[in-house]
Amino acid sequence: MKILMLNPPFLFRFSRTSRSPAISKGGCVYYPIWMGYATGVLEKAGHDVKLIDAPARGTTLEEVIELAKEWKPQLIVVDSVTASFNNDVKVTETLKDLNPNAFTLMVGTHVGALPELSLRQSKKIDAVARGEYDFIVRDLAEALEKKKPLENVLGITYWGEDGKIKFTPNMPPIEQDGLDAMPFASEVYNRHLKIRDYFYPSVLYPEVTIITGRGCKFRCTFCKWPQTLTGHSYRARSVKNVVDEFEWISKNLPYVKDIMIEDDTLTQDKQRTIELCREVINRGLKVTWTCNARADVDLETMQWMKKADCRLMCVGFESADQTILNNIKKGTRVEKIEQFMVDSKKANLLVHGCFMMGNHGETKETIKKTVEWAKKLEPDTAQFFPLMVYPGTEAFKWATDNNYLSTKKWDEWLTPEGTHNTILNTEHLSAKELVAGCDWARKEFYMRPSYIFNRFKLMVTQPREAPRLIMGAKTFAKYLLDINFWKKSAAAKQVS
Ligand code: SF4
Repeated sequence: MKILMLNPPFLFRFSRTSRSPAISKGGCVYYPIWMGYATGVLEKAGHDVKLIDAPARGTTLEEVIELAKEWKPQLIVVDSVTASFNNDVKVTETLKDLNPNAFTLMVGTHVGALPELSLRQSKKIDAVARGEYDFIVRDLAEALEKKKPLENVLGITYWGEDGKIKFTPNMPPIEQDGLDAMPFASEVYNRHLKIRDYFYPSVLYPEVTIITGRGCKFRCTFCKWPQTLTGHSYRARSVKNVVDEFEWISKNLPYVKDIMIEDDTLTQDKQRTIELCREVINRGLKVTWTCNARADVDLETMQWMKKADCRLMCVGFESADQTILNNIKKGTRVEKIEQFMVDSKKANLLVHGCFMMGNHGETKETIKKTVEWAKKLEPDTAQFFPLMVYPGTEAFKWATDNNYLSTKKWDEWLTPEGTHNTILNTEHLSAKELVAGCDWARKEFYMRPSYIFNRFKLMVTQPREAPRLIMGAKTFAKYLLDINFWKKSAAAKQVS
């Protein structure tokens, strides 16, 4: 069957796969990771698949229409997130109009969280998938090809023949055997995408992003993937399978400088993390990698990671205030995070720290406290973002229950330029104050002479870090020159 896997045209370099999708001020462009895995599964099942990542390439709707006219896909799978949902429905409708016999399926975190509401947007969306959709699209393609009833395809919500909306039972989470049997995402990217289109400011360029384990056992209220896509049971690929992919990348994509492991949290299983490092070392692989981690990795694990050439961990610290950490169910303590930073420095691993503002309990005082704490923790790089809430998360429910959202129009989750739009006004802080607080935090963190001096030192001691630091500095300089920044900073004085 001919299947079009479409990350649909929208704003140039809009990252749908990001946990908080937007155009990144730091230039970040994510791979269409989940579409990549599903593409591999479909190809393995014998289908003829095209994976198009329109925002990364700058592919226009007209170009997608041309492709659909010529190639005539029988199944069209369209990725979607909250901020681009209205656009994505229009793209789906356009493609359905062109080829009414094609089956249209929307996938992704937004439609998975709001399946019925999403489907009701248009009769031209034939179905939506709920949760991890690799096996859902595989089973749907088989059912369509063999003309089997859709009621046996798990994990979909669709229009029944009687014009009513039908739900099938959920698709069970994919366990290790199923994950190991999937083609490597890196192979799929190499066949369908341009590796150099993708960029993470904290990762060496060029890079490939892979997933080695899905789901997170923690329950942070704001965190989108475990609540809408991957769930809370942690399922991981075998160490052998992951290191086989490392080896494949080093042989077949020798220009790739870094492997980004985009698991919710790679380090959830200490034993597996150490085994992974051991296997990389035993095979004598020269691969550099970066991962997401929680601030509970111990020194022993970090030392193994360093030996296996892990260079950086992306970690969510969120807030210096223990009450806020408790409110958002972060499951950690301020002191533990401080010890983590001490250990990461001993192990000589870099850390990208994520700080979030606007969570339950946030005030001007806690923002100030978090910024002072960030300076004391001194990660290599830091991001300060206002809380963005998405349907399906506990944070979204908290915000709607308390009437904190200034809009429910999905388009307004973005500014006209495509960057995050803060739509949260809590009892203590307005959206404007949150944005101003984050702008002020970035300036406070990055404009310190000691920070600048240490980055120069890092470029001298670890020259491979220089290109991304220079690129990051240029982006930040542009941001500083933005007149709005100074206006917002002036407003931020009130916050500080
Ligand atoms: S630990 Fe990290 S990945 Fe897991 S729920 Fe919390 S923020 Fe999300």
